Amino acid sequence: MSVTTTQTMTEAPTFVEATLDGRVPAGPVQTLWERTKFDMKLVNPTNRRRFKVIIVGSGLAGGAAAATLGEQGYNVECYAYQDSPRRAHSVAAQGGINAAKNYRNDGDSIYRLFYDTVKGGDFRSREANVYRLAEVSNAIIDQCVAQGVPFAREYGGMLDNRSFGGAQVARTFYARGQTGQQLLLGAYQALARQIAAGTVKMFNRTEMLDLIVVDGRARGIVVRDMCTGEITPRLADVVVVGTGGYSNAFFLSTNAKGCNGTAIWRAHKRGAYFANPCYTQIHPTCIPPVGEHQSKLTLMSESLRNDGRIWVPKQPGDTRPADQIPESERFYYLEELYPSFGNLSPRDISSRAAKRQVDSGRGVGPLRNGVYLDFADSINRLGQKVIADRYGNLFDMYDNITGENAYKTPMRIYPAPHYTMGGLWVDYYLMSNIPGLFVIGEANFSDHGANRLGASALMQGLADGYFVLPSTLPNYIAANKLEKIDENADAVKEAVANVNDITQRLMNTNGTKSVDHYHRELGKIVWDYCGMSRTAQGLEKAIQLIPELEAEFWENVRVTGTAGELNQELEKAGRLVDYFDLGRLMCIDALDRNESCGGHFREEYQTPEGEALRNDEEYTYVAAWEYAGEGEMPLLHKEPLEFETVKLATRSYK
Ligand SMILES: Cc1cc2nc3c(=O)[nH]c(=O)nc-3n(C[C@H](O)[C@H](O)[C@H](O)COP(=O)(O)OP(=O)(O)OC[C@H]3O[C@@H](n4cnc5c(N)ncnc54)[C@H](O)[C@@H]3O)c2cc1C
Repeated sequence: MSVTTTQTMTEAPTFVEATLDGRVPAGPVQTLWERTKFDMKLVNPTNRRRFKVIIVGSGLAGGAAAATLGEQGYNVECYAYQDSPRRAHSVAAQGGINAAKNYRNDGDSIYRLFYDTVKGGDFRSREANVYRLAEVSNAIIDQCVAQGVPFAREYGGMLDNRSFGGAQVARTFYARGQTGQQLLLGAYQALARQIAAGTVKMFNRTEMLDLIVVDGRARGIVVRDMCTGEITPRLADVVVVGTGGYSNAFFLSTNAKGCNGTAIWRAHKRGAYFANPCYTQIHPTCIPPVGEHQSKLTLMSESLRNDGRIWVPKQPGDTRPADQIPESERFYYLEELYPSFGNLSPRDISSRAAKRQVDSGRGVGPLRNGVYLDFADSINRLGQKVIADRYGNLFDMYDNITGENAYKTPMRIYPAPHYTMGGLWVDYYLMSNIPGLFVIGEANFSDHGANRLGASALMQGLADGYFVLPSTLPNYIAANKLEKIDENADAVKEAVANVNDITQRLMNTNGTKSVDHYHRELGKIVWDYCGMSRTAQGLEKAIQLIPELEAEFWENVRVTGTAGELNQELEKAGRLVDYFDLGRLMCIDALDRNESCGGHFREEYQTPEGEALRNDEEYTYVAAWEYAGEGEMPLLHKEPLEFETVKLATRSYK
């Protein structure tokens, strides 16, 4: 172990230890999870109600975990900022959920799903976690079917499948373009049953604003009642955070406006390591931005790439409408450059390819900032009704937003921030480095490496919530003596005071500019310098610009209303404060990783064909950052990654 200090933000970060331990049990991955489940300790059913578990988040990860732990008999409290668990952002997921059922008999298997996911993540994920994810995937489908989730079915009654990027089999289960909503209704029913049974207490419109750590263990949270403004501590034996991703650091993203990084960032400030913050996913299939006034971008599901063909005019600057560009003058760039995977190439690769086309002057649409996604061939082959059955709600959504009928004219799409592979660091048991703090779903970093394959976030959230956490959390409870915590303990009072202090500071600012103004400015910096393509020079600039912007925010922002009422400006301001720091950490991480991998594309490290060039020798590790204080350079911990089952190889989809 060696420790050094740094003076400025742009120098090399402090390196703390090379062997952060993911606590993966020894042995072949194929049998690891079953063995680990047997080896872990259990809690007697009659003792379970004595243990309180706080779960922050009621999306697919948190909702599934709360329902399952409630069913097991624990005393669960579940917190969410929406007015109902049904509105968690998982509701927005469109395309589907992967599982290795091999219903199509097209060569799928647990091993193939595992392999595709490790390769899709550009060899930057932990093998043991990914294998477990693939293994558990089949049980998720059984569980959801038992709950009544209306997955699409074939004529004979079997569940139907379609394909998603980075796979050559059809393994994606779906419910039209509303898979997330249907899965969430399933989880919500299970949760509602436990709420009625009294094992789960649900706290809607309640925002976690700090983590309480007592004697090195997570023992509670501080929350703000979003209707009354009351700030109170909530104590427990274990805290689980399943609060989703941080794509809104970019301001414009496919995430709902309320999605935030506050819970994970404040846990980070209490000592939880933040892993791979620079691994963010820019989804290739979104409606292109239309102007400065926009507050959100809209995803057009990747599933559309099953039947849509992506192209641009061959000639740069060609402004003819799509139907006047003859076939011979169209460039189906994904089909030509990546013939094996074509339009279903993985997201990082497809996004960069779209950017290259637009940058080369071949962009389409009024702002020349899109590429076409064209359904004409599929409609000719299958008929409009089949396409409408598969994607009708997506076509309607596109029409509502653009005023264009995509049955008649190609959709226009462009990449947009969508998902964050980075998140709080967790070990194999989904526990952070703070004992008693578990992190699940998109909020952790665990399974997707540097690029997530489509339809695997729902799989991971439900794997964590229904199957992994319900085994690993009891093991922690059974193995540790957890003393009762007093509300008057210093750590509790200090955390509450901290939240009151931030709230007061925000309310006392009396500037002239809105919170959105600053968020938009931050988003521009993060997008320009830490978006689809990054350079050392740009990242250094961003690391300097972000604190300057934050300082101006504290001088000039105006938060209207009062702290003791429903106040969305205050909520947004608190979240933005965390995005400043998180955005800076994203840039520090991206600057430190002198290679390109998955969604992290450093222009200095590319092949002659413009593909990501990894540096396995030096960067086959998880970068886990430790908070070192306000404005200080964070400390870097490295968890080495070993590839014993899938051999490290150059990723190719050609
Ligand atoms: C438009 C869109 C489409 C997608 N389509 C797909 C798809 O087809 N397939 C796929 O696999 N993935 C898809 N994804 C990704 C996937 O939907 C998400 O990764 C996943 O649903 C996240 O689930 P989660 O439970 O981790 O978080 P979420 O569903 O975001 O839930 C977060 C929960 O945390 C709560 N919360 C957050 N912060 C706080 C706080 N500070 N205090 C209290 N509560 C808090 C919220 O209230 C909410 O209950 C899509 C994502 C988007 C944006």
